[in-house]
Amino acid sequence: MSMQRTLSIIKPDGVSRGLIGEVVKRLEASDISIVAMKMVHLTQAQAEGFYAVHRERPFFESLTKFMTSGPVVVMVLQGEDVIARYRNLMGATNYEEAAEGTIRRDFATDIEKNVVHGSDAPETAAFEIGYFFNQLEIMS
Ligand code: GDP
Repeated sequence: MSMQRTLSIIKPDGVSRGLIGEVVKRLEASDISIVAMKMVHLTQAQAEGFYAVHRERPFFESLTKFMTSGPVVVMVLQGEDVIARYRNLMGATNYEEAAEGTIRRDFATDIEKNVVHGSDAPETAAFEIGYFFNQLEIMS
């Protein structure tokens, strides 16, 4: 185990459905520290840049449109093994396959509209955190 940081996004469906508090409550209950947080409304170009690794996937256009459909809440999370721990709280991409009690299982309505994002590895976490936050915005 090691101290890690990861990027969390409460997606437009989560924000518009009033789930910010619910997600934050679950983070705090899991002893995951929020070390940066803000609300942004992504442009199409910003969403495409964030999801550049998915550029060839058939759902790329739909996903980037969805992610620009309203504001999102982005957070930097910190803790021991937080990348995997937060992915466990989120649940599988497809909410129908997600474990009971996970955020996606409890709240997602669609494979795309799945409420939350979380980085999947240390390298992607570093890229994704830097995409939204500079060093001065992250609590040490
Ligand atoms: P994640 O790491 O669990 O978020 O999953 P991925 O990195 O594979 O996909 C990124 C995001 O694209 C997911 O969270 C969904 O919002 C969306 N997505 C994934 N698979 C599909 C799909 O088959 N169809 C659509 N429309 N969206 C998808």
